[in-house]
Amino acid sequence: MNGSAKTQAADVIIVGGGLMGASAAFFLRQRGRSVILLERGLVGQQASGVNFGNVRRQGRHLIQLPLANRARDIWGRLPELLGEDCEFLPSGHLRVFYSDEFAAKGEQYARDAKAYDLHLELFAGNALRDRFPYLGRDVIMASLGAQDGHANPRLATPAFGRAARRAGAAIEENTEVLAIQKLGEDFQVETRGRGTFRAPNLIVAAGAWSGALAAGFGEPVPLTAKGPQMGVTEPVPYRIGPSLGVSTSVEADTVYLRQVKRGNIVFGGGTRGDADIEAIRAYVDPVNTLNQLPRLQRLVPGVGPLRLIRTWSGIESYLPDDLPVLGASEKVAGLLYAFGFCGAGFQIGPGVGDVLAELVDTGTTVTPIDPFHIRRFAPARAA
Ligand SMILES: Cc1cc2nc3c(=O)[nH]c(=O)nc-3n(C[C@H](O)[C@H](O)[C@H](O)COP(=O)(O)OP(=O)(O)OC[C@H]3O[C@@H](n4cnc5c(N)ncnc54)[C@H](O)[C@@H]3O)c2cc1C
Repeated sequence: MNGSAKTQAADVIIVGGGLMGASAAFFLRQRGRSVILLERGLVGQQASGVNFGNVRRQGRHLIQLPLANRARDIWGRLPELLGEDCEFLPSGHLRVFYSDEFAAKGEQYARDAKAYDLHLELFAGNALRDRFPYLGRDVIMASLGAQDGHANPRLATPAFGRAARRAGAAIEENTEVLAIQKLGEDFQVETRGRGTFRAPNLIVAAGAWSGALAAGFGEPVPLTAKGPQMGVTEPVPYRIGPSLGVSTSVEADTVYLRQVKRGNIVFGGGTRGDADIEAIRAYVDPVNTLNQLPRLQRLVPGVGPLRLIRTWSGIESYLPDDLPVLGASEKVAGLLYAFGFCGAGFQIGPGVGDVLAELVDTGTTVTPIDPFHIRRFAPARAA
């Protein structure tokens, strides 16, 4: 930590120490770039550290799959890259369907995803019951992404932060960014009591707080914050391998769960709660929890008798088209954005960090990210 009042300089400043910022810092150091990461609280304290932990590719917009594939490759190499596995368990991700209509969508998705190198296995009838005997009788079909699974969000982002620091990044926690100006070639970043920082490249990876920063550069976006509702049960013998999720258009029914090796069942989904970015608080509405419980039981009847030991939420940012903002600013040279991950940024996080580092280093990326460019909101701004 450095509380000095003099200006510190680097090739890149990152605002925000979530998974996007921390992994970008790590991959920038791998490319030999000097980097300063400025985090208001602790690395991984917000959405990146409190999420459900799904490492899931299926169900994403197809245009997100190349980025998700890049991320999946990194998840598999965490021990080699970071020296720890962050409890990433490639035990599969299973998407289940209750209706013919959604099962047909699932079949179509499985066909389309092949072109993106995501191979899904469909199960119905006896094959479904034999392979996943814990599923409820309402499940008529399930789609297995065998290479996916889950990881521990408490571990992943701090692990990237520590590895980045070991590789030479300046990871400045308890350092809130108050103002940013572009002075000539450089960004000058003022912080609360921790001095001034300068760099020719700036990455805005400030999660739900990125909207104000983008607006400050003349690129406002319709970013909103909500709190997905989480819970965890007491531990029971480990039986459910894959991470499970319901595919439906009924928001309240969109529950998901996973069992950790210690036996606890972590769950989430359904109606989201409120999140307050000023107070830095996301709230669990007990009514949402009560609505989740019968739906979890419909998915896996065996969870019915289990005791709930904790509920929580976190602040996530959403955009109306359910896609993130990722890539270069349209207005300011040297500025990159990575925010608005719409409840699905944990899996792609390491891929986002790798892409950001590649963009800074080479000016381009081999992974298609054009659909996520901030310019898509320009017509609405002009109107
Ligand atoms: C409850 C919950 C469940 C979820 N479940 C999943 C899941 O299972 N799978 C999945 O793929 N995704 C999931 N997500 C989404 C995923 O967690 C997020 O998309 C992802 O973590 C966003 O990472 P981030 O780095 O962009 O943001 P964050 O993790 O929010 O990090 C942004 C950081 O910026 C810092 N910051 C903000 N303003 C400033 C400032 N002015 N100065 C300095 N620092 C600042 C914040 O303190 C914060 O640490 C879930 C999200 C939540 C909340």
